[in-house]
Amino acid sequence: MSDGRIPCTKCGASILDITARLNAGLCGKCENNRLQEQAELQRKEQDRLIREKGFSYDIDRLLEAENFLLSVVGELPGQDSPCYPDLTSEEKVISDLASYNVLCGNGFGTLFSNGYFRLLDGALLAAREIGSGLLFEGLTEFWAILADYGFPRDPIQCQEMSTEDVDVDALYETLAELDEKYFHYRPGEPSLWASPDYPAKAKAYVREHIEIFRSRKNN
Ligand SMILES: [Zn+2]
Repeated sequence: MSDGRIPCTKCGASILDITARLNAGLCGKCENNRLQEQAELQRKEQDRLIREKGFSYDIDRLLEAENFLLSVVGELPGQDSPCYPDLTSEEKVISDLASYNVLCGNGFGTLFSNGYFRLLDGALLAAREIGSGLLFEGLTEFWAILADYGFPRDPIQCQEMSTEDVDVDALYETLAELDEKYFHYRPGEPSLWASPDYPAKAKAYVREHIEIFRSRKNN
């Protein structure tokens, strides 16, 4: 095409040739969805392994890993694992933050469009527990926006809710603004994308409750 635009191979949206080349034919939104689906499959596979071998982990070793939250995934069961209810409330905080961390992609909007209400709820509760400024503020705003659009505050009810009476276009626009505020890189300013504050606070939280996490070793 002469203007350098071609259709996304998945949704047909008109995209720049360079975008298509970078994302193997996909538009930005479809590429984000693909990455999130990939992360979800990974998470499921890790949960399956945990179910088979049970879960015990060495928290001191995890704390020394280069990326603490990334290392937690695969060691602590996630929300969809049948072992999740066996976690202590402190372990749930860390498991939820770790799941959020691998699935958040470029913002809250993609998580919303893929129906991750439980994750968005768990991450908010976890962010409050660790006292994380940016993540807590962003997720608080996210849930306030959903409330404005008539969504119930319960994640399971959200999943079952019909969006027939919701002005979905306006909602997506509002969520895009929210993502712009919290995820887009601006030099010198904190962002959940470029300089997330919650991984360090998650570590500090673990250290505060270290005996609870240590007691899981060789359990
Ligand atoms: Zn697309």
